[in-house]
Amino acid sequence: MERLQKVLAHAGVASRRKAEQLILEGKVKVNGKVVTELGTKVSSSDTVEVEGVKLEKEQKVYYLLYKPRGIISAVTDDKGRKTVADLFPHVEERLFPVGRLDYETSGLLLMTNDGEFSYLMTQPKFKIDKTYIAKVKGIPTREQLKLLSKGIDLEDGKTAPAKVKLQSSDRKTGKAIIEITIHEGRNRQVRRMFDAIGCPVQKLRRERFAFLTLHSLNAGESRELTPHEVKQLR
Ligand code: URA
Repeated sequence: MERLQKVLAHAGVASRRKAEQLILEGKVKVNGKVVTELGTKVSSSDTVEVEGVKLEKEQKVYYLLYKPRGIISAVTDDKGRKTVADLFPHVEERLFPVGRLDYETSGLLLMTNDGEFSYLMTQPKFKIDKTYIAKVKGIPTREQLKLLSKGIDLEDGKTAPAKVKLQSSDRKTGKAIIEITIHEGRNRQVRRMFDAIGCPVQKLRRERFAFLTLHSLNAGESRELTPHEVKQLR
């Protein structure tokens, strides 16, 4: 659900301010009825008309992106840095990322123009598993890994149980590669979890989101999700 003035602005009808004016002037109808309340929320199934002309419904699109490091998970950046939206120059729909990966994190990121889908994918209550491969400084002991898997106290509360696997470790360099699966999506969560056991993350990649994997994609590449995949995720 989105605010009516935002929907009008996004559809290119008018700026947000002008859209508000159109609503207040009684020139906007939702499902055939004039709406003059600015807070009115509409969903993609509602029909919106402005001065008798129906808004075209943008087709919903879904992409799986292998986000490279050094790109921000946003649509615009006030510092002018490259964003994930810049990786889709040929897509006309206004894509935005489903959740976020840090600037320095690479890996699987979904992109869509479907707000409802994005909401479903990012709510912790839906418990969607996300798997990360972390290269960390230090070689965590069994006890430390257990702490991560049982839940660890962070400043914003204890983390939910996680699946944690030590993939490899190198005594010479004092580094380890760990696979960790969580279903929460707090800000910088994986990095903060490893900080909490004293093994800071040096490299982080998201390998899996629900049943989706990066498969044969290279960093910077993307593919459309199949209708079947979208249905399975919902
Ligand atoms: N956890 C992090 O710390 N960073 C990410 O980008 C994703 C999960």
